[in-house]
Amino acid sequence: MDSVMDIPHDQLGRTICDLRISVTDRCNFRCTYCMPQEVFNADYRFMARAELLSFEEIARVVSLFAGLGVRKVRLTGGEPLIRHHLEVLIAKIAGLGAACASATTPVATATPGITDISLTTNGALLTAAKARALKDAGLRRLTVSLDALDNEVFSRLNGVAFPVDRVLQGIDNARAAGFAPVKINMVVRKGVNDAQVLPMARHFRNSGCILRFIEYMDVGHSNAWKMDDVAPTAQLINTIHREFPIEPADPNYKGEVARRWRYQDGAGEIGFISSVTQPFCGDCTRIRMSADGRLYTCLFATEGHDLRRLLRERHSDEYLTNWLRDLWQAREDRYSETRSERTVALEKVEMSYIGG
Ligand code: SAM
Ligand code: SF4
Ligand code: SF4
Repeated sequence: MDSVMDIPHDQLGRTICDLRISVTDRCNFRCTYCMPQEVFNADYRFMARAELLSFEEIARVVSLFAGLGVRKVRLTGGEPLIRHHLEVLIAKIAGLGAACASATTPVATATPGITDISLTTNGALLTAAKARALKDAGLRRLTVSLDALDNEVFSRLNGVAFPVDRVLQGIDNARAAGFAPVKINMVVRKGVNDAQVLPMARHFRNSGCILRFIEYMDVGHSNAWKMDDVAPTAQLINTIHREFPIEPADPNYKGEVARRWRYQDGAGEIGFISSVTQPFCGDCTRIRMSADGRLYTCLFATEGHDLRRLLRERHSDEYLTNWLRDLWQAREDRYSETRSERTVALEKVEMSYIGG
């Protein structure tokens, strides 16, 4: 295995720090901007069980990436909590082993270099027991997606009439299990849920949760994205500032995706992820893996790289490490900096497949 000194840089000088792993392409929601019912219906072909990487295969991939500089792992999907016994995978990545899945030890570093394991979920399956099992297995950070506080708006947006109270309960369960702070992701679409920005801000002030407003992106090719649908961060900042004065806060680390702001009255922190109006490709150190083991060097990619085939051909760690290094060194992605009518129309891979 190569030394830490030998970590690869891509064509724009970026290292590889974050690995986002989609553990399933299935979801119990049908959010209109992500998995619209018209496309993701009974005729849609989801991955078969045998196509999914096993937990052992995923853990091997993580350890190979750790040797190339990856420090953070985020589990996503589809809806990651649909994958049974996800805490067993978390324990494996944390280096604790499946047998210790219920231990209360914090994240171990037996997998060299992995210091942070996080999860993004819609919160529907976040029972008190599940939240505790995830925490005990070594999950460090948890993000729950919630696009509206009003039950009618939320039911319409999630496509399956899922009640907002149950997501709020999931967030409470996460907090009770010791996740602090829980982050809340709200994708804001103009004319759809932008009227929910202030109610959401009000609800999560003083809660200890960090609410993050995400600009609606042209991921995939089934949501008919238009620039006009984006609620620009600058407008949201004005809207919130008029009601609850806010001020910018320093980033926690270089390359942090969310710009941090805080309430001037001490009611906590909020964030803005503005990949459309303020792209951050220059600092993008993320690589993504689909549930069937394809690697994507950009969220807006049209094609992936088939790692599963290589894993199942039983190549050595050294062979796979060299293949991954070559892949990263060839990377020149900067989609959000070059977005145009032409790129918006490309057949990009779906968010539910590649993971958020
Ligand atoms: N199902 C989980 C969830 O919703 O949290 C994890 C996967 S989901 C694809 C990850 C995140 O991507 C969610 O916060 C979701 O709101 C966000 N997302 C999906 N489509 C998006 C889009 N077109 N633009 C911006 N964010 C999007
Ligand atoms: Fe499912 Fe998450 Fe996509 Fe909504 S955003 S459809 S919860 S994967
Ligand atoms: Fe990274 Fe691609 Fe997003 Fe740019 S557009 S920040 S390269 S994922």
